[in-house]
Amino acid sequence: MFKLDEVQGIFSSLPPAELAIEDVMLADALGRIAAEDVFSSIDIPPSANSAMDGFAINYEDLLHQKNNTLRVSQRVPAGSIPTPLIPGTAARIFTGAYLPEGADTVVIQENCDHVQDVSGSKVVVLSKPIKGANIRPQGQDITVGAKVVRKGQRLNAIDLSLLASVGKASVGVFERLRVAIFSTGNELAEPGHKLNAGQIYNSNRPLLWALCQQLGFVPVDCGIVEDTLPATQYALKTAASKAHLILSSGGVSGGEEEHVKPAIEALGKLEMWKVRIKPGKPVAYGSIDGSAFLGLPGNPVSSFVVFQLLTVPLMRALQGEETKHSQCYSVVAGFDKKITTREEYVRVKIRREGGNLIADRFPNLSSGVLSSLSWADGLVRHKIDCAISYGDPVDFFPFTEAML
Ligand code: AMP
Ligand code: MG
Repeated sequence: MFKLDEVQGIFSSLPPAELAIEDVMLADALGRIAAEDVFSSIDIPPSANSAMDGFAINYEDLLHQKNNTLRVSQRVPAGSIPTPLIPGTAARIFTGAYLPEGADTVVIQENCDHVQDVSGSKVVVLSKPIKGANIRPQGQDITVGAKVVRKGQRLNAIDLSLLASVGKASVGVFERLRVAIFSTGNELAEPGHKLNAGQIYNSNRPLLWALCQQLGFVPVDCGIVEDTLPATQYALKTAASKAHLILSSGGVSGGEEEHVKPAIEALGKLEMWKVRIKPGKPVAYGSIDGSAFLGLPGNPVSSFVVFQLLTVPLMRALQGEETKHSQCYSVVAGFDKKITTREEYVRVKIRREGGNLIADRFPNLSSGVLSSLSWADGLVRHKIDCAISYGDPVDFFPFTEAML
């Protein structure tokens, strides 16, 4: 049996699937994975400019003026091009406006008296400025040649803003990973249909579908597959022709009615089977016709946990995304739990008590109880060969963070 961190490590270091590179406009690039490093071809700001509304002066000039008074020789709103500062004068300037050549300091308007009389426009500097104050130097934010986006980076709103700030209207990203999803089980019925005796509704399909969507992958529906070897083989072949990765649910434990493992062994390559985790031990990983394959357990909770722990790193790697470790916080166990031989992920809800965050566990540990996931805020890791006592610090993985 494989250890969880070992499998996570293998998945994270897999090369990306064969994905085309698309040039997409920034408005369509949220959540996409950058396919190349992006460098700035300009300085930002491109020229020194004023950080405030006020008066641009030459510091030395001011020292030589009587009564700290300077004639105002030009007006520089943002977006205009200033002329060089006439020695011994000030320029009225506004936030974001380029600094006139020869000016080295901006005095904020609150520290000035702006006098308009018959002799023209004058400024009295009321308090001595610091030389260089209120100026944003050229390249303060970004310099020519600086890397603004890394290959493999998942682009968020800030990244898109940064790209825009250096003048990029579009960005090269990897084509979205296509993920074929099928559910095995003779007992499965689709919601919206009458439930016959012996049947349950297929809850894994919307789960896996939505999780893929949430991560920006393209789910491809491959339906429900009956528990026979030929049907499973056919489903795998079809799925492989449609997607970069196949996710199946159920039929992977190795029992008489379980055909996923023999099907992948017969048609493709089985690389791994069974991981030492709970819930979710029966997991199969392999490949078929150039597509990666991951067989998830059928129990809804197991399916979800395996998705969080293994499918996400696998999908990120195939999508060309850089490795990202799940967010993990230290909280206090609000329960006792006996020693475990498999790394266990316990459904918990967080409560605040004094200055502590306490994790209460869901009373029923059955992996068939989907409502436990809806109740929980996340998972607490129970490490192999350890017991947990009330009050112990434990690692907590919130669902939303662990997912994204
Ligand atoms: P299996 O992994 O096929 O042995 O299934 C384990 C348990 O999960 C069984 O009780 C199945 O009925 C249930 N199960 C399997 N697939 C699904 C599914 N798609 N939706 C809901 N429950 C499922
Ligand atoms: Mg089954």
